[in-house]
Amino acid sequence: MAIVTSLLFLIAIVLQTVESKYMEYDTSAEIVPGKLNVHLVAHSHDDVGWLKTVDQYYVGTNGTIQAACVQDILDSLIPALLADKNRKFIYVEQAFFQRWWRQQSQAIQSITKQFISSGQLEFINGGMCMHDEAAPHYIDMIDQTTLGHRFIKQEFDLAPRIGWQIDPFGHSAVQAYLLGAEVGFDSLFFGRIDYQDRAKRYVDKSLEVVWQGSKSLGSSAQIFAGAFPSNYEPPSGFYYEVNDGSRDIRIVQDDIDLFDYNVQKQVDDFVAAALAQANITRTNHIMWTMGTDFQYQYATTWFRNMDKLIHYVNQDGRINALYSTPSIYTDAKHAANEYWPLKTDDYFPYADRVNAYWTGYFTSRPGLKGYVRVMSAYYLAARQLEFFIGRSKTKSATDSLADALAIAQHHDAVSGTSKQHVANDYSKRLYIGYKEAKEVVAASFARLTESAPRSGYKALATEFQECPLLNISYCPATEVNISHGKKLTVVVYNPLGWKREDIVKIPVISDNVIVQDSTGKEVESQFVPLVNTALRLRNYYAAAYVGESPSVTPKYWLAFKATVPPLGFNTYTITSSKGTSRLAKKKPYKLIGSQNETVEVGPGALKLVYSADGGLSQYINKETLVNETIKQSYKFYSSYDGSQDHEYFQASGAYVFRPNGTYPVLEKKKISLNVYRGPLYDEVHQRINSWIYQITRVYKDKDHAEFEFTVGPIPIDDGIGKEVATQISTTLKTNKIFYTDSSGRDFMKRVRDYRADWTIKVDQPIAGNYYPINLGIYSKDDNNELSILVDRSVGGSSIEDGQLELMLHRRLLHDDSRGVAEALNETVCALDECYGLTVQGKYYARIDPLGGGAAKWRRSYGQELYSPLLLAFAEQDGNKGIDLQKPIFSGFESSYSLPENVALITLQELEDEKVLLRLAHLYEVGEDKDLSVKATVELKNLFQGRQISDVKEMSLSGNQERDEMLKNRLVWKVEGSKDGNVGISRGSPLDSEELVVELYPMEIRTFLVDLDHREEPGIAVK
Ligand SMILES: [Zn+2]
Repeated sequence: MAIVTSLLFLIAIVLQTVESKYMEYDTSAEIVPGKLNVHLVAHSHDDVGWLKTVDQYYVGTNGTIQAACVQDILDSLIPALLADKNRKFIYVEQAFFQRWWRQQSQAIQSITKQFISSGQLEFINGGMCMHDEAAPHYIDMIDQTTLGHRFIKQEFDLAPRIGWQIDPFGHSAVQAYLLGAEVGFDSLFFGRIDYQDRAKRYVDKSLEVVWQGSKSLGSSAQIFAGAFPSNYEPPSGFYYEVNDGSRDIRIVQDDIDLFDYNVQKQVDDFVAAALAQANITRTNHIMWTMGTDFQYQYATTWFRNMDKLIHYVNQDGRINALYSTPSIYTDAKHAANEYWPLKTDDYFPYADRVNAYWTGYFTSRPGLKGYVRVMSAYYLAARQLEFFIGRSKTKSATDSLADALAIAQHHDAVSGTSKQHVANDYSKRLYIGYKEAKEVVAASFARLTESAPRSGYKALATEFQECPLLNISYCPATEVNISHGKKLTVVVYNPLGWKREDIVKIPVISDNVIVQDSTGKEVESQFVPLVNTALRLRNYYAAAYVGESPSVTPKYWLAFKATVPPLGFNTYTITSSKGTSRLAKKKPYKLIGSQNETVEVGPGALKLVYSADGGLSQYINKETLVNETIKQSYKFYSSYDGSQDHEYFQASGAYVFRPNGTYPVLEKKKISLNVYRGPLYDEVHQRINSWIYQITRVYKDKDHAEFEFTVGPIPIDDGIGKEVATQISTTLKTNKIFYTDSSGRDFMKRVRDYRADWTIKVDQPIAGNYYPINLGIYSKDDNNELSILVDRSVGGSSIEDGQLELMLHRRLLHDDSRGVAEALNETVCALDECYGLTVQGKYYARIDPLGGGAAKWRRSYGQELYSPLLLAFAEQDGNKGIDLQKPIFSGFESSYSLPENVALITLQELEDEKVLLRLAHLYEVGEDKDLSVKATVELKNLFQGRQISDVKEMSLSGNQERDEMLKNRLVWKVEGSKDGNVGISRGSPLDSEELVVELYPMEIRTFLVDLDHREEPGIAVK
């Protein structure tokens, strides 16, 4: 009662003294020709995991870390957009949108659909996340974009028009031409480019360019690209998140009866900020990004203030302000009919100020980066195997892995820049996805080998085991007693479209076994003992990662050569050797201990020579006649702690690489060698120091050296973080030039201490010359070419002529003050002890005569590295258990194989039984004299036993027909350019009768294929 009385009293006072009333704001402004147009783009940048996990961000938990709740953002948009039909908003991250969408009522879904059809709400970018551009492989970028785009197509019948990579820390050429132009985007916007580059672009008004990312596809795959003047926030003073206590929010106060009326000041500030931006921008259109990280949790505050700004600024009349979107902005830029500067190459590396090169994250969290790569390859293979047996109508067994992989491409996920608990969440999702996918892999093997009656395959499917920890020699399926009568069957699956020979290695407990092929013929095999270092790592990490304490200890690696048909498998049987072996050697290996002479290793044409001090000294190939002095070593950079900084604190951290010194890793003058020789390959074991172990392999049939490194725990008891690199030095006169891949695809020319677009002031001669590597790095001189390929994304460079280096691992003690607020000090706990993370991986090096097989190796072997053979194991006891009726299989028509310059990068059955197929030409124009040419693929031969009833060529993300995409594409004018299409070739449209796909260098073509119905129903997987 008392409350009511006082309320009445208050209302009475208000009625008596206040003249203000409801105010209607005119927000209907559209583009006004002849005036400066300020496009207000309302947006929220929602990281798909960073300081909190993706689900914590969505539901809003863990608020003490960050007060961010994405469902509040999407919920609060509904009334805010309903309140005024002129208000507009863009939404980007489909991982969040899909979470929200599933939870909405029909009514809210229908309102949302109206917003989308009226243009009030627009999907931008449209992938599951805003992927990073340094650490993800292009196949993962395509997959995660496809996943988001297919949802938008199915649910709203739309294709996003605009690329929106506003936060990733540098920008790759592949993003521009492949994930931009080839998915049908008309423009691409981003926030982060080098500060020196940006300063120069202010002067010549070249923040906005036409970007041609691929020299092979040239102007046929170019895109309008805009870097923002500073970041993706509004100009200073126009920020309106009401609950953000960290900033001073200057509300537009237009009620004359209240204190602090500020309309004229706000209008003047707005006009001044707009004119300043117009000064560095071509045409009379500028964009203001009205939002930042996790904004619009109470959307009305932002819109109320923007309503007022639009109203009063337009009343003022000096300039025109309007609610806009990047699509409207892009169309306005296009309509201006301006000529734009041409940008080729990319925007790496990125520095945001002096001494702050964001080149550390190229390597940060190498374990996660490795896991993402392994799962990416597994996903590609699992989708193929699922296609062979038909997917379930309701849910694909690979859906969870698809989701987990998509989220893992986020620019704080595989980049290694999230908090530790979030990195754990990404790994957990990948593991859950893997566990589901491996069921369909096992079921597919059971069905395809006809190891069981068709009605019973499901029960037997579990007979096929896999060994996800094979890299650390943990494989319970092979560590079994193969006594008389028992057999171990190994299914070796090849996801590539060409026949393949490779060495398979599995741990075994005895050397009394032999390997037979599917005809019963013994194949050549080799044993190498498992050393104690490997066993210790195995036992600790098996406990840490799968919670298992191995009960048996394998004694050897058993290696044998497998020959596998394209897109298919072969099977091998391991049995007891007693009395049957023709090939098994009496001694399983030959060991040469430490010695004082040079040692030559390699059973084939390639020989590595080690000098008496244990160091690699010579690389000799007796066939190609290369004979090159070579050194291979490890070093570490001590991480700068920021303590001497005055103006800007800058420690080395998860993002930034800031070395404070370079130190060789060498504790002794001499590194002893253990050499294990065998018929298939030789191994050189070296303990480099107490925390680096290296195995170098030289294969009989391979012309490269394989380096397997085990690095860690990196010691930090001296209080200094360390960033560990390996290097190969030769006498090649490389004249500062080297090449690194763009997202695993085109190779970009890099010149040390040089940028093509501006004159660089070098303050960090090492960190400023680091580049992201997904496939490889190489350099050359007039005689030879030195190439290195990698097994995951890493940072690398050529710091001196003739030298190439890779950063393999980082352990840091300071945060680099870019938001993650955690030192990158990865620690693993198991068996009651915690240690710094140990990372094991491989890289591969080769020297060719110039113009020899280097490009072919980088492309073909690079594809084999991306898609390793997938192994599954089944134990058979006498006549019981599985009996493989079909030990060899190929998904292609018999004897068909893809040309060696083409890879099958997607073969996936979709919900509607259509098949998504992607074929990629692997070579650039001019890269190889024989293989940088047109390739043809006969589609009819790709689907064994099935007829194609219809094929449509699609955009890269499969969300629109390619013809449609090309018809709608905006064409941009380029300054000083005559005809950028000279010498650029594209495959002709597919003839529906012939069904032969033509692919020219670097083309990726995407098809939606209808096949006749299969005889058997698809497999049901829980
Ligand atoms: Zn972000």
